[in-house]
This record gives sequence, C-alpha cells and structure tokens, in this order.
Amino acid sequence: MTSFVAIDHFTKASLTAIPPDEKPTYNSLKVIHQELNANAMAIPPTHGGGHYGHLALVISTPAFNALPNTVPWDNPEHPGAAPVHGAAPTGAQISETNMLFAAQETKFLVFRGTETALQKQLLEAVPDTFTKTLKHEMYGYAQVTALQILTHLDNTYGTIDADDIKDNEKRMNADLSPTQPIEDLYNQVKDAQKFAVDHDVISDKRAISAIIGNLTKSGVFTDALKDWRKTTTAEQTMVALETHFTAADKERRRILTPKAVGYANKATEKSGKATDNKPTPTGNGIPMYYCWSHGLGPNNTHTSNSCSKPVQGHCKEATADNMMGGCCVIRRMFGEKAIYRRPQRECANQNNDENQPPANR
Ligand SMILES: [Zn+2]
Repeated sequence: MTSFVAIDHFTKASLTAIPPDEKPTYNSLKVIHQELNANAMAIPPTHGGGHYGHLALVISTPAFNALPNTVPWDNPEHPGAAPVHGAAPTGAQISETNMLFAAQETKFLVFRGTETALQKQLLEAVPDTFTKTLKHEMYGYAQVTALQILTHLDNTYGTIDADDIKDNEKRMNADLSPTQPIEDLYNQVKDAQKFAVDHDVISDKRAISAIIGNLTKSGVFTDALKDWRKTTTAEQTMVALETHFTAADKERRRILTPKAVGYANKATEKSGKATDNKPTPTGNGIPMYYCWSHGLGPNNTHTSNSCSKPVQGHCKEATADNMMGGCCVIRRMFGEKAIYRRPQRECANQNNDENQPPANR
C-alpha cells in the first residue's frame, strides 16, 4: 500500500465551521466533536479499536476505554525501511515476513492518513486565532494531533456558563403545540438532561416535573394527568411516564376526526405553517378557531379576521382568549348532524335569546 486517502471514506467532507468572528462555544464544539467522531469511526480499524473504527484518535483514552465492546488502542508504529529476514530463511519464511511487514505498513499508513485528515478538517473548521497557541513557529501544527487540539479547545472554550444553563432550561421547557408528536417533548427534555450532565445535572425527577408542567400547560391531557397524579412517587419513572402519556396521546389523536386533521394538513400545504391564526386547544386536544360573529369552530380558515359573513358590530381582532363580547357558541364538526334541541324555558322568548346559535356553516 502506498497511499491512503482518508477523506474519501469520511461521512462529512468538511466540518461545521465556526465563523471567523465567533469564539468557539460548548455547542459549536459539540457539533465538531460529533462530526469528527463520525468521520473517525468511518475508517475501519486494521487493528484494535473494536466497533469504533479510528475513534480513539479524537476522544480521550479513558472515554474510549469506557465504551462497551471496545479493544484497547495503541497507535501503530511504522515497520521500518524493509522487511528484516532471519539468517538463511526458507521461501515460506520470507513470504511470511513480507506479509507481516506489508500488513504493519498498511496499518500505519491508514492510521497516519486518518490522523492527518482529521487534524486538517479540525483546523479548517476553527479560526486560527483559537488554536494558535499550539502552533510551532517553524513546523506549524505538524507536531500536534487532532485530539490535542480538541482538548485545548474544550478546556479553553468548551465550558458551560450560567447563561448556557439558563438557555438549556428554556429549551427543556419550550411549549409543545397540540399538533406536535409527544415524542418531541420527551426528546427536548432528554436533550436538556444530556447537555447538563457534566455541569448541573437534571435529575429524572426534575425532568418528569418539566414534562408534567408542559403537558398541564398544553391543556390537552387533563384526564391522563389526573390518572398520573394518582400513582405513587415510586411509580413515577421516566419509562412509566412515556408509556402512560404516549397511550393518552394516541387516544387523543384517535379522537381527532380525519376531517379536522385534513383541515390542518390543507392549511399546512397552503401557507407552510399550521395556520395564521392561533388555535385554541379543547379538552380533547382538538384545535378550534374563533370568529366574533359565529363562535368557536374546527375550521381554521374561519376566524374573526377571515369571516366571510360578519354580522353587525363584528370585531376582526376577537380571539378565544379575548372574545370582545362576541358570539359564545361552539360550532359542530364539519358534517356532524345536530340532534340537540334547547329545552323550552318558562317565560322565555326564544326569538330574543341572544345566545341562539346561528345555523352551522
Ligand atoms: Zn364568522
């Protein structure tokens, strides 16, 4: 083997670069770590390394040895200028020695080619200002490995400060919309836990409390939350929580009529987002839209602002949280037949009843 071009085998031809005017941060370095790890693992090991290719070149030895199913890693040595044969070797011994020599040379060339390519990618992704302290006046970065550069960057710029922790909390508690899969909520909380693991650990108890808080705020899991609160603290594990609320979410989605879902899909196709008007989730998780003249309904193209048949006094700005004195009826799902009839009230004149619902539209 005379040459090995590692970059041809990498999963990422270049790393996500840090802009020249920005300092590396924990998050930007994390992305670089992930990309370098993937590239290093894409080069199969010719010795050792277990399942992880050449990962040992970009993570610390303790971190590498702590991985499951790994084999301790030693950087391969160059076998020398030429195979060394014993005195009066047989033909078989000569070919055996040549074969071992070639194999050792291949290991070394693959290792060197990979190390050089990873180091080059890293230096291209990070502005020189932040690695310069490792640069030799005469030989540049020839004497430093990718791992040494990464360690320097992590120690100098990769620490997490109070603002990062605050931002992480914000991401953990970000509102879940009724149309999002509930798995998004589990993931955002687990990502926050992962982020905080070395700095300000978010216990499962806190993570569960964040999820419950979020679901309570969403207003669409009232019954499931009641059932959850009946369980004991010992029963309230992350696994139990996911099982319980995933089932509740499945039921909630089943209740959503295909037509209502269809409306949402149509609106998404048209405008690229669910709707320009904020839906009001009901207890069943059905998003509803408010019109001052016609009340609350499932049609997201019918709001105070878009109403095609406004009645006198119509307020275009009225929403479910600020009805501005508008109509207080709930319209039926599209195509649903009305069976209910308002019972006759004593001394009441039905025609003067201000709450008489208008015809379904
Ligand atoms: Zn209307």
